[in-house]
Formats: sequence, structure tokens, C-alpha cells
Amino acid sequence: MFKTELRFGPAGMPIGCKGRTLVDGIEYAAKEGLNAFEVEFVRGVRLNKEIGIKANEIARQKNVLLSCHAPYWINCCSPLKEKQNITMRNLIQAAEAAQTLGAYIIVFHPGYYQNQTPEKAFDNALILLKEVLRKMKEKKINNVLLGLETVGKKSQFGSLDENIELCRKLGIENARPVIDFAHVHARADGCLKTKEDYEEIFSKLKKGLGAEALTRLHCHFTEVVFSDKGERYHLPVGAKQSPDFRLLAKIISEKNYKFTIISESPLLDKDALKMKKMVEF
Ligand SMILES: [Zn+2]
Repeated sequence: MFKTELRFGPAGMPIGCKGRTLVDGIEYAAKEGLNAFEVEFVRGVRLNKEIGIKANEIARQKNVLLSCHAPYWINCCSPLKEKQNITMRNLIQAAEAAQTLGAYIIVFHPGYYQNQTPEKAFDNALILLKEVLRKMKEKKINNVLLGLETVGKKSQFGSLDENIELCRKLGIENARPVIDFAHVHARADGCLKTKEDYEEIFSKLKKGLGAEALTRLHCHFTEVVFSDKGERYHLPVGAKQSPDFRLLAKIISEKNYKFTIISESPLLDKDALKMKKMVEF
């Protein structure tokens, strides 16, 4: 069992890593001083079983907490049977891969409103995710959480409030909100400006789901460029201070939060280390 501690890691292979396999990536991150790693299945779930088992072993040995990011095309809100089946299949595949890896959570962007009301999109997502949980239980996948990530575009379903409510209905033992700060920031026209803006996220989580939602809260961080539609592209930490990691670092050290922070900046592991140092300072 992994200790609940403040963790930092890259979203995918560290940039300086010469090795090609996941095992190489995890070892490299651990050597750099990182203790988390998000395995990217954003363009499809493909995992060589042997490498998966080896990665699980190495991650445990080196105290690197693993998580998985499920494919981008997942859409839990679609009213179309065919799309629902693709989403279900991908989520189950991601959960199976997570089980092999010993990863504790599968992160995904919940979906799109398309032409539906937010209420209808919510109801569709709830029905689909309940079915995914049922299938996971049937397959005896018991230690993998569904991670509902806050999304970055206004056309996407998955605001903080929507994700909290979905997790409340699915049960916090099954599903957790994942906070992508750049997405929260970009989707609401650059809303994270002060320490209080960050603190509002944490108080919403606590109010909606209890203090447990803040234990080992899974987060993504990068700076971001956005338009009136939301997220456009990522920037390194410290490029424009938008959103500003210094504010979050202050809260984490003041409150002694044990979050897992995955760097999605173009500098991946380098910025994970930079953020780690900013909290420790
Ligand atoms: Zn994501």
C-alpha cells in the first residue's frame, strides 16, 4: 500500500529519459526524486502485460504512485448506444490496465453536452458510469477509482460542480473528482487569480464530499493559454504565472495537504520537480 504523502510526477515519459518502456520511465522519474507517474492511454489503451507487471513491481519498490489517463474520445454523456459502448469498453480497458499496473485511479474527461441540456448530459453520465462500476466489480477490479477530471472547454461536460455531484451519486469509495487547475482556469476565463480562488475549490470539495475528498486529491497542473471557448495550449510553469502555482504551493504547505500533482506542462518531469521545490521552499 502506498503512503499518503505529497506527490509529484509527470504525465507520461519524462523528457530526458532515454529508455523506451514504461519501466524505464518510472525508474527515471524515481531517480529524479519524483514519486508519482501518470501512464498515458489518451490515444488508446495498450499495455504489454509483461511490462505492466514489471512496472507495477518497480513502482512499488521505488514508491512511485501510478495513475492512468484514459482515452480523450471518451464521452459518458452521449445519447447514442454505439458511442456509449465505445466509452464503456475504453473505461473497462483502462481499469484493467490500471489493475495490472497497480494504478489507483483512471482519470478521464467525462464528456460533451452536444445538443443536450446539462441535466440530460448528467443523467446519461450517471447511468453509464454506474454500469462501468458494475462491470468492474464483476471483473473483480476493486482497487481502481474513477477519476472525473475538471474539463477545459465550455463545450465539455465536467465542471467542478458537475463532477462533485456525480461523485456524490457514485460514492466517494468509487469515484473522485480530479482537479486540473489549468482547465478550471481556462474554462472560466482565467478565474484562478488569488489564493482564495484556489481555496474555493477545496471548500467546495469538502462541502460536497467530505474531508476525505481532499486526502490524496489527484491534480493536474500546467500553465495554459485560453480563448473565450476555453483551453488552447499548455505552457511551462513560471512562463506567465497563469494559473500561478506559487499560490497553490503556499496553500499546500500551509495546510499540509497530501495531494498528488501531475505535471502536464510541456516540461513534464522537469516542471514536476520545479513545483516540488516550490512547495518545499
Ligand atoms: Zn486530462
